[in-house]
Amino acid sequence: MSLIAEKFSQISPSQTLAITAAAKKMQAEGQDIASFGAGEPDFDTPQHIKDAAIEALQAGRTKYTAATGIPELRQAIAEKLLLENNLEYSPSQISVNCGAKHSCYNAILACCDPGDEVVIPAPYWTSYPEMVRLVGAEPFFVETKRENQWKLTAEEFEEAISGRTRMLILNSPNNPTGSVYTKAELEAITEVAASEDVIILSDEIYEKLVYNGRKHVSIASVSEEAKNLTITINGLSKVYSMTGWRLGYTAAPPEIAEVIDTIQSHTTSNPTTFAQYGALAALQGDQSFVNDMVEEYDMRRQYMMSRLQKIRNIEVVEPEGAFYFLVDTTKMGLGSMNLTEKLLSRYRVAAVPGLAFGHDMSVRLSYATSLDVIKKGLDRFEEFCLSH
Ligand SMILES: *Cc1c(COP(=O)(O)O)cnc(C)c1O
Repeated sequence: MSLIAEKFSQISPSQTLAITAAAKKMQAEGQDIASFGAGEPDFDTPQHIKDAAIEALQAGRTKYTAATGIPELRQAIAEKLLLENNLEYSPSQISVNCGAKHSCYNAILACCDPGDEVVIPAPYWTSYPEMVRLVGAEPFFVETKRENQWKLTAEEFEEAISGRTRMLILNSPNNPTGSVYTKAELEAITEVAASEDVIILSDEIYEKLVYNGRKHVSIASVSEEAKNLTITINGLSKVYSMTGWRLGYTAAPPEIAEVIDTIQSHTTSNPTTFAQYGALAALQGDQSFVNDMVEEYDMRRQYMMSRLQKIRNIEVVEPEGAFYFLVDTTKMGLGSMNLTEKLLSRYRVAAVPGLAFGHDMSVRLSYATSLDVIKKGLDRFEEFCLSH
């Protein structure tokens, strides 16, 4: 007898874990590892946000709240979406969740039945396919092209649609590629979604981390039709450097918002109460931290771009958002697991294998780390590439 539910036979633990664990172990043994593995900001949470959470704790805000968040926070999110994203939602359409990862899972659970297909452009964020499988639905991958900056085109989307297609998962700015969709590209995708009745899950967690004068566009804002089909997901983790606080949110059509509220009330209940007060301070307080952080990332990004584009044997697309480079290693002819193992054991550089993102001939390099580490790491990475 198996002690494990049948649906877990299809679900794999994170493939990136082995490399990260090995890198950590080597570091703990005193080895000098240059790590490009980070999936979170290397900045501390701003003090005024911490203070607000501490004050909330001191004031006894330590009990349950409404399942999908305190009214003030939902109101503040609605105001933010209107002001910054040109999206009009009532607070009842907003739900605050335990991280944007939780928001994604709630949304997929709310909308997808077993047997439904979910279109996922690859390379993708590693958790999407497994979330889809967890609810019994099936991921349908579309391989995007480097020549298209790894972005899904409306034509590719249309070709991927079958009678069972229920949802498209879009992530812009993108992890792992750093790509940012333009308004025109989003409009074309929306037209296909609307004509085929496909729900769009739009993960916008990196919205403020954009460079080269790029502007983030929320796909729900391109038309009323788009808004009626879209679940907009965002959170505090990446933009306010609050990954450990576990706060994300969902803005959705009323019937979806209602179901998310029901799911959450029976599973997690509210996100941590005093953390919600911190989130309120993040959204309503001084935003200068964000600009400073983006400037720092941009400086690192430009440095990395200038170096990576000179290395033969690899190909890079200039990332315009988030804090990652997806380096195409096709020319080296090594699978990403093999490549990252060699890179770590012989060159003491940690990177995430592209296999985790559904694109084996690549590695992801994060620049959420200091310029010193980046310089040292790139010296070694360059040596590695030249020897292959
Ligand atoms: C980090 C990340 C998330 C999850 O954010 P949390 O709020 O920490 O759960 C969601 N989507 C993408 C693409 C991410 O990179």
